[in-house]
Amino acid sequence: MKKENVIKSCYSILDRVTPLDFDCGRLCDGKCCKGDAHTGMLLFPGEEKLIDSDICINTNQDGVCVAVCDGSCNRHRRPLSCRIYPLFPVIENNGDTEYIDVQFDPRASCPLCEGEIKLNRRFVKAVKRVGKYLLLNKETQKEYREICEEIKDINKFRELLK
Ligand code: SF4
Ligand code: SF4
Repeated sequence: MKKENVIKSCYSILDRVTPLDFDCGRLCDGKCCKGDAHTGMLLFPGEEKLIDSDICINTNQDGVCVAVCDGSCNRHRRPLSCRIYPLFPVIENNGDTEYIDVQFDPRASCPLCEGEIKLNRRFVKAVKRVGKYLLLNKETQKEYREICEEIKDINKFRELLK
């Protein structure tokens, strides 16, 4: 599948489903949309031409494209990282079998990660489907797997600190 089509499918899966059935930005005054020029939402291959053209695209120190916004965007053209936040579909291993486990993204700073509010089940399922789609193209799969490894490393490190 072409990377742009993978991304369009992921956008469509998450176009009408959100973490809660109401605007969760009311809980935190839209915290995740208040980054600065040094932070940004990571872009998957193929997203550069699909996101809102008002969003700036920078390259981070690892050579990965990140979207830097001014705190507002066309909701239907927001990046995939914004759509799945604060979850991530992590590829886990059970012996020889891989499976996708939807987890709170340890990089996220979001009140929902405290686990006190039950997330919309449709949202969790949609994030899992996104993981399956990201595996359908070599480039999206490569970046997806790299992020999964990064997340697992962060989780291991946090376990060590406990
Ligand atoms: S930080 Fe979390 S609760 Fe706040 S708007 Fe973003 S996803 Fe919703
Ligand atoms: S691109 Fe849109 S959804 Fe993503 S952080 Fe910026 S304003 Fe929020």
